[in-house]
Amino acid sequence: MIIMSNVADIEKNIEHCKKNCLTCPTYQYNKLGGTPPELLFCARGKSDKPVHEIKDEGCNCPACPVFIENDLSGGWFCMFGTKGRV
Ligand code: SF4
Ligand code: SF4
Repeated sequence: MIIMSNVADIEKNIEHCKKNCLTCPTYQYNKLGGTPPELLFCARGKSDKPVHEIKDEGCNCPACPVFIENDLSGGWFCMFGTKGRV
């Protein structure tokens, strides 16, 4: 699958993502760490867990430096892919 994203899949961004996705209530409630791609959904695309099986408990992305530095919008990349929720 080709995933269109301007966000780099690099260690610096992964570290930012760990601070924000791993503490996100949606991430924790739905145990998204157990399913690929596990992290950096804004770069790697949505979780392999089907979106209808993910309960929305909120999104930390707008506070993440990767979100801000890359001028992202939408959030909830784990559910909706690199474009985020529109
Ligand atoms: S914007 Fe969201 S998905 Fe992307 S690195 Fe930050 S917390 Fe992770
Ligand atoms: S993409 Fe947003 S909603 Fe999904 S786990 Fe990361 S912070 Fe939470």
